[in-house]
Amino acid sequence: MARHYGPYGGAYVPETLVPALTELERTWKSARKDPEFQRELRRLSRTLGGRPTPLYFARNLTRRAGGAEIWLKREDLLHTGAHKFNNALGQGLLARRMGKPRLIAETGAGQHGVATAMIGAALGLETEVYMGSVDIERQRPNVERMRLLGARVIPVTSGSRTLKDAINAALRDWITNVRTTHYLLGSAVGPYPFPDIVADFQSVIGREIRRQSTRAFGRLPDLAVACVGGGSNAIGTFRPLLSTSVELLGVEAGGPAGSRGAASLSSGRPGILHGSLSYVLQDPDGQIAETESISAGLDYPGVGPEHAWLKDSGRVRYRAVHDADALKAFHWLAEDEGILPALEPAHAIFAAVGEARRRPAREHVVVTLSGRGDKDLSVVLRGSH
Ligand SMILES: *Cc1c(COP(=O)(O)O)cnc(C)c1O
Repeated sequence: MARHYGPYGGAYVPETLVPALTELERTWKSARKDPEFQRELRRLSRTLGGRPTPLYFARNLTRRAGGAEIWLKREDLLHTGAHKFNNALGQGLLARRMGKPRLIAETGAGQHGVATAMIGAALGLETEVYMGSVDIERQRPNVERMRLLGARVIPVTSGSRTLKDAINAALRDWITNVRTTHYLLGSAVGPYPFPDIVADFQSVIGREIRRQSTRAFGRLPDLAVACVGGGSNAIGTFRPLLSTSVELLGVEAGGPAGSRGAASLSSGRPGILHGSLSYVLQDPDGQIAETESISAGLDYPGVGPEHAWLKDSGRVRYRAVHDADALKAFHWLAEDEGILPALEPAHAIFAAVGEARRRPAREHVVVTLSGRGDKDLSVVLRGSH
């Protein structure tokens, strides 16, 4: 648990938010040690979420790659269709522990908004979700889902009217309503303690990979791969493996060929965004750059501070994959394995197939399949075939 990761992280926020961040940190630290809280977290993960998620041997995709075995960590099978559930449940329980009756959240593709609306309903908390008006237009089905789950969706019309502006709006709301409201931040970003809390709740992914790979093939994988937007499914995959010899690869959105896409670690430089210091895509004056990606969930100009440190330290490798290659991998998984992946993890699948091809058949590559593809069908159908 760290306020900083090397030089990265911190809590660069207005003073009015400091007491709320302190209260959140205190609540989380006491909850971690409270067997009652941990029992409830495990119970709902299992009975509402569907944990543990399986580790699946992708036999046909392995044959396509022609090298190491490829295994998929099936977070797409979790309730509401993505790993976002793990964090929404954990923070929802923290909000209840703090006695806060209202949740707010930001959402881009809508997956985190849906997970928050779901947990708001399940725990009886009022829920409001900020969403850029551009995203509301391109992610209609998730907007309808949030409303059906009883949440109010608030359109954000400032700036580029996407995820980064929705986070700004949610932070402003939180400053005004901090006594009654918990801001359920959706990725491993933002001011401390959010990156640490989100990583902690998502680490169930990597812990299960450790257990399941040992059971399935007798040892830890040689390589673990995960896609990186804000970085929550990746840090959840990596953290429990950091102390092992497993190679780790994070895959960012490269956008259209020839662009920087949304690859903050590959093409950005250190800067402050949404309350922490990390890699940020910016112009020469330090203004936040416009990002572009086929997957709304990776379309964010920043990245969690722990990833910035893991990159600098060399413990994790990061690379970018372009839109067209992610689409290719979407079709591979659909046709080889009968699984429609979300476009976010399709980036990781593409990179994993390339890695497996270069490795001998005795090695094992585990890829975190962070979500299912239903939300992306219209994008895929527009982009190919
Ligand atoms: C939101 C989302 C992501 C990106 O978020 P991270 O915090 O980087 O994990 C990746 N995959 C899916 C399916 C998502 O919904």
